[in-house]
Amino acid sequence: MANIAVGHESIRSAYIHIPFCSHKCEFCDFAAVAGMSHLEDEYTDVICNEIRDRVATTASEIRINTVFFGGGTPGLVAPSTLERIFQTLCDSCSVERDLEFSMETTPHSITEEKARAWRSLGINRISIGIESLRDDELSAIGRDHTRAQALSGLEIACRHFDNVNVDFMYGLPTQTIESWGETLDDLTSLTSEFPSIKHVSSYCLELATNSPLLSRFPRSSIEYPHDDSIADFFLLLVQKLSDSGFSHYEVSNFARPGFACRHNLVYWQNLEYLAFGVGSHRYVDGIRSSNFRSLAKYMREYTADEMSESIDESTRIKEGLMLGLRMRQGIILSEFVDRYGIDLATRFAREIEKLKSGGLIEFDGRHLRVSDSGVLVSNAILAEFM
Ligand code: SF4
Repeated sequence: MANIAVGHESIRSAYIHIPFCSHKCEFCDFAAVAGMSHLEDEYTDVICNEIRDRVATTASEIRINTVFFGGGTPGLVAPSTLERIFQTLCDSCSVERDLEFSMETTPHSITEEKARAWRSLGINRISIGIESLRDDELSAIGRDHTRAQALSGLEIACRHFDNVNVDFMYGLPTQTIESWGETLDDLTSLTSEFPSIKHVSSYCLELATNSPLLSRFPRSSIEYPHDDSIADFFLLLVQKLSDSGFSHYEVSNFARPGFACRHNLVYWQNLEYLAFGVGSHRYVDGIRSSNFRSLAKYMREYTADEMSESIDESTRIKEGLMLGLRMRQGIILSEFVDRYGIDLATRFAREIEKLKSGGLIEFDGRHLRVSDSGVLVSNAILAEFM
């Protein structure tokens, strides 16, 4: 498992957003669009310009060693599109040889030909949105792939890549604790069959207030698992993956030893990162900012910010604490002092004592972490510190 980095202030990560999808899933609140692939070339021109312009105006040193093509469905676009964007990044700033180069895709966008092209481009980590291995659940959440397509895409990816992540969701309409258990059993069998599966991410379904899925399944629908049972879904996930040798290194993420996602660790370690493309969020030169979420607006004003917030010292400390506690290894207090100049044991003595006596955190004087039972109420724990 990676340690929390301290004192490393150069920017080492770049996120690149590709918004195109074959279909807009009804639960999806990302900057993703379907039926707009005719804009692929124009979008690529814009994002390449954005990379050049933003890198030129970044004050911090840039030495990229993680790149993440996320979406949307980067696996859907022509590999030559990804190549143009990546080449622009390499031409604009220093990109290190020991690069973790991830790309997200839906399973049914994976083909032999594309997998070969992705490899030659240097992509070395594939993240596949499988979400469920049951056709009834996939159709309930409005995915446009089936279990058979998921297995076929996964099989191709595992033939070409030795570092594959799979995404799964729980809390879905029509899902029960039994069906979730079956999906997890299928998943753990797949991890034995395909040793390339090194990483699993699993999040509970969260719907925006205007989510289209709510028209078929309103929040009051009895088809959702009951709120009180969601903790059981999470505990089953942790138990099955831990039994299969995966390390639970972040609240929603599990990895084989040595395969924690380096790119996401940069977010959780509260380090700065670049981001390009519609709706993307960055943290550069002490400022968190985001691009327009509207594709048309972004393509007209690609360096304008929809949101921009200068992160003052007190916010930086709170974010460091909050993100550090999402990591299952927690926070080493001496490292926190080196990085932020704050002794958490003194600053939060009352809160730590209260949470410790409630069994929600573990603290031995030098190491602060959320306990196994505390993970279930981690938002409430973080609220105590805020
Ligand atoms: S494939 Fe992913 S990004 Fe695209 S619409 Fe579905 S959930 Fe959103």
